[in-house]
Amino acid sequence: MLNFFDLANNGLPYPLTKDTLILYKQVAKQYQDTGLLESIRMLVPVNIKNEFDKRIAGNLDLMMPMTLLFTWYKHEFMKWMDKSPVCQLCSLSLNLRYVKGNSWIVRGVEYHTCPKCSFTVVFPRYGEIENIAFNRIGRCSEWSFLFGAILNSLSIQSRIVHDFLDHCWNEALIEGKWIHVDSTLEYPISINNPHYYEKNWNKKYQYVLAFSNADIADVTESYSFDWKTILEQRKKRKNSDLSKIVDYYEKI
Ligand SMILES: [Zn+2]
Repeated sequence: MLNFFDLANNGLPYPLTKDTLILYKQVAKQYQDTGLLESIRMLVPVNIKNEFDKRIAGNLDLMMPMTLLFTWYKHEFMKWMDKSPVCQLCSLSLNLRYVKGNSWIVRGVEYHTCPKCSFTVVFPRYGEIENIAFNRIGRCSEWSFLFGAILNSLSIQSRIVHDFLDHCWNEALIEGKWIHVDSTLEYPISINNPHYYEKNWNKKYQYVLAFSNADIADVTESYSFDWKTILEQRKKRKNSDLSKIVDYYEKI
């Protein structure tokens, strides 16, 4: 019998642990929080909000306001946190010390310190979207948690997607279909390019999962041209059934 700890030890480079499930569930819950969404909406420039409101009300194409939103978010609002930053004074690589947090609210804190001058960059990994919005810096998880909230605040339903390799992004419900959305990529590849990672980053997926408040969707097929092979590989593995994980997720 499978329990989800089996999948946590199932050779995924990024294990599917209880902590991961709780984090994504909490992100999805925040996407339902109208008070939070109202304050997130305040971050978006007025002209972009107006374009979205006008077009949603008129049932018009959203590509134009999407362009504005992606560009603003990537090039004005958010900053990317380097995995291996260097000292601004000595140009030396900083040493990393990681302190694990004790809940989804602060998942952990990275301290990057210069071995010579002690210059330190502190990078807290927040699960709380308000804190991410305040900090305006992160990697794909922070970028996607906040970007999903922004979409929801503009009345576009969105969810978190994780490939359990090294990347996560969003999906947005547009005209009844879940569309790939990745705020870390350059527009227009940032929207509706589900095969981008497989083609350009040589991804070999085992699971790509989408997390909403109600459930987990196995969306691997939409991101791969090689779904048949993935299915065959799954059949060979002992613990490839997601049902218990989904069951657990629905209860938390
Ligand atoms: Zn230094």
